Amino acid sequence: MRVLITGITGFAGSHLADYILKQHPETEVFGLVRWRSRRENILHIQDQVYLYEADLKDPTSLKKCLAEIQPDRIFHLAAQSFVPTSWTCPAETFAINAIGQINLFEAVLDLKITPKIHIAGSSEEYGMVYENEVPMKETNPLRPLSPYAVSKVSQDLLGWQYFKSYGLRTVRTRGFNHTGPRRGEVFICSNFAKQIAEIEKGKRKDVIFVGNLEARRDFTDVRDMVRGYWLSLEKGEEGEVYNIGSGRNHTMKEVLDMLLSLSRMNVKVEVDPARLRPSDVPVLLSDASKFVELTGWKPQIPFKKALEDLLEYWRERV
Ligand code: NDP
Repeated sequence: MRVLITGITGFAGSHLADYILKQHPETEVFGLVRWRSRRENILHIQDQVYLYEADLKDPTSLKKCLAEIQPDRIFHLAAQSFVPTSWTCPAETFAINAIGQINLFEAVLDLKITPKIHIAGSSEEYGMVYENEVPMKETNPLRPLSPYAVSKVSQDLLGWQYFKSYGLRTVRTRGFNHTGPRRGEVFICSNFAKQIAEIEKGKRKDVIFVGNLEARRDFTDVRDMVRGYWLSLEKGEEGEVYNIGSGRNHTMKEVLDMLLSLSRMNVKVEVDPARLRPSDVPVLLSDASKFVELTGWKPQIPFKKALEDLLEYWRERV
């Protein structure tokens, strides 16, 4: 089987490649890269995967790659994935996430290939929720609260529409937050962990800067999440959408406290107003029972272990 991962250089994409190479060695793994892509997340596997240059914003590049790769499955993970950047660059976020996915779909249609396609949607699509709407099911209303979230809703609905209109074999997931080693340093858990690692090495004063600590998020280790992505194409029904999340959430204050308890130093905490968002989703909590009943998926790695491994990752890098 030939599997294409868009976003293979990213956080989840690189872990997905690791998972497939280890657990499904009969699979050939292909990945899309851009000429300036940072390769550090895939350096250890670059001899085991086939990399092709393409940009989601460039239909020609996508079509050429797909024609050569002829994938049986596509995991579409590439995206502008950082919520704050979606406020500063909303059009770019939309161009990559929504239009980029149209480009990918149209290339598949033009080439008359029939891969099963996973779309990495996000819990951010649910956005504003009322107390009586938690935990969130796939049937919850989508009330996205950021340009990023709107772009993910677009990806999600395009996945459904191309299935209905053209029979494209899409399976959509709405992944709740995931973290672990290789998480980009701008993302909150990773940012806290990096600051702690820098303080431990004496590279910054003993103060950690934080944003909104009240937000509650449902965290899963990235290695569990990508196993879920694989299962979504193994067992997921075409045209369907599935939540993937642990069903347990923590405030960011609890996350910070867990990381601080792993720290080798005493660290002070200060709020940095620049880290507060124009509108923040207050609570995300998954009801993933539809996915769990279908696939038997369950998170196996405790959240604290994900944080330990993330902190260790940064200790080795700062
Ligand atoms: P990352 O930001 O770590 O990785 C993004 C990837 O997308 C990179 O490989 C990047 O390549 C690629 N990419 C960005 N723009 C383009 C483009 N124009 N053309 C081709 N490739 C591009 O994201 P994550 O791994 O965290 O997320 C993966 C997916 O999962 C995303 O769709 C995200 O929205 C979704 N998701 C993530 C969640 C999380 O908690 N991590 C939660 C729910 C959903 P390059 O190296 O060239 O920049």
